[in-house]
Amino acid sequence: MTTISFEQLGLSRPLLRALGEAGYSTPTPIQAQAIPLLLEDHDLLGIAQTGTGKTAAFTLPLIDNLRDDDVRAAPRQARALILAPTRELVVQIADNIKAYARHTPIRTAVVMGGVNMGSQIRAMAKGVDILLATPGRLLDLIQQKQVDLSQTDYLILDEADRMLDMGFIRDVRKIVARLPEERQTMLFSATMPTEITKLAREILWQPKRVEIEAKSVAVDRITQQIHHVSAREKAAHLANLLSDKDVGRAIVFTRTKRGANKVMQYLDKAGFNAEAIHGNKSQNARQQTLENFRNGRSSVLVATDIASRGIDIDDVTHVFNYELPHEPESYVHRIGRTARKGTEGVAISLCDPGERAQLRSIERLLKQSIPVAGAANDDKPRTDGAMPKGSAASQQRNGKRHNGAKKRTPQGEQEKKAASHKNAGQHRWRRRTRRPRRQAA
Ligand code: AMP
Repeated sequence: MTTISFEQLGLSRPLLRALGEAGYSTPTPIQAQAIPLLLEDHDLLGIAQTGTGKTAAFTLPLIDNLRDDDVRAAPRQARALILAPTRELVVQIADNIKAYARHTPIRTAVVMGGVNMGSQIRAMAKGVDILLATPGRLLDLIQQKQVDLSQTDYLILDEADRMLDMGFIRDVRKIVARLPEERQTMLFSATMPTEITKLAREILWQPKRVEIEAKSVAVDRITQQIHHVSAREKAAHLANLLSDKDVGRAIVFTRTKRGANKVMQYLDKAGFNAEAIHGNKSQNARQQTLENFRNGRSSVLVATDIASRGIDIDDVTHVFNYELPHEPESYVHRIGRTARKGTEGVAISLCDPGERAQLRSIERLLKQSIPVAGAANDDKPRTDGAMPKGSAASQQRNGKRHNGAKKRTPQGEQEKKAASHKNAGQHRWRRRTRRPRRQAA
C-alpha cells in the first residue's frame, strides 16, 4: 500500500464514495502509479499480476474518462472494450466495475463463450459504455454485425500473456483492427514474452510503463514449502495435509483437467468437501462451484491454472500444488490465491522426482530457494504481519489532475492533435489528446 490517497490521484467524487463503501482506504502501488497517467490519457503498459489491484488501476480512470467525454454509444457500439482471457476474469472485472461505478450512470455488457448469445446480443442492442469480453465470442458477434467497435475510444487487454498461452493472440489482433487508430490503449501482462512485446509495440502509442514485481504480489506473506513425494504417494499425502486443523479454505492445483477430476474424486471419497473447476465445465457450473467455495459449502477447490485466473476469494488459508506448473510464472499466480488483502497464507508444493526441473525454474524466478519440509529450515506460517515490499517508489508519483483540474494536453501533442483533426466536424466529440497511430516521433 502507499501513503497517497485516492483523492490525491484525481478521481471523481462518485468513485471516491464507492471506494469508501468498498472499504478501500489507500491505493496499491500500481494504482498510485497508473491512475494519474491514465487520467492524463496516456497509453499504458502494465506489468503486473492478479492480486496487485490492477483491475481498479485501469477501471477507475476508465470510468472517469468515459464520464468526462461527451459521447453516447450508438446501437451495438461500445465506448470502451476490455478483453480478458477467461470467463471468470471477465465476470470478476464486471463485478468490480459494478461496485466502483455504482454512483454513476455507466452501463456495461458482457460477451463471452459458454453462455447464451441471444442475451448478449440484446445487451449490446442499445450500445454500452464498457464492453467486457473474451476474444472468441466477441469476434463471432463482430462478424455477425451485432457488435461494432468502430467508435471505441478505449481498449484494455488484461492478462495478455495468458491470452497468448490460450491461443487468442490472432483473435486479439483481428479485434484490435476493428477499433479506431485514435484511442487510449492499456495492455496488462504478468510476463512479457517476445510475442507480447511485439503486440505491445504494435498497439500502444508512446506508452508509459508501470511494473510491479512478481515478488511484491504477496510472496513475502506466504509461507512456502516443498514436500518431496513420489507421484504415487501424492493423493494420500495431500489428504493428510488437508486434514491439518490449520487448513481452512484450500485450493489444490493440478496441471490437467483430468488430474483435477481425479484428485477431486479421491478427496471426495476421503471425506472432504471438494469440488473441481476447469475449462470443460459450463459457465454456470463454474460459477456455481466458485459460489459454493466462496460461501463455505465446499472447503477444497481443485483447479487448473486457466480456471484459477479469475479466482478472487478471500480467506484462502492454503494453496497446494499437487503438481508443479510448467511455467514458473504460474506458480506465483497460484500461490497468490492466498494471502490476499494483507492476510497471510501457506503454499505447499508436492514435487515428485520428475518435477525437479520445474522446481529449479520456479526458484530461479523467485530468486530464492523454497524450504523443504522436514529439513532444518522447515518453517511454520508466519504471524508477524509482514507487509509486501516495493511500495516506496509509487509514493513519489503524483497525479497532476488534482481537485478536478482540467486534463492537459501533453507537450508536443499539439501538432499531432492538429493532424488528427480528420474527424473534426463529425458529430462525435473527440478526446483532446487523441492522436493518429504510428505517427510517433
Ligand atoms: P486485482 O489484482 O485487481 O485482482 O485485485 C486484487 C484484490 O484486491 C481484489 O479483491 C480487489 O477488490 C482488492 N483491492 C484492489 N485495490 C484495493 C485497495 N486499494 N484496497 C483494498 N483492496 C483492494
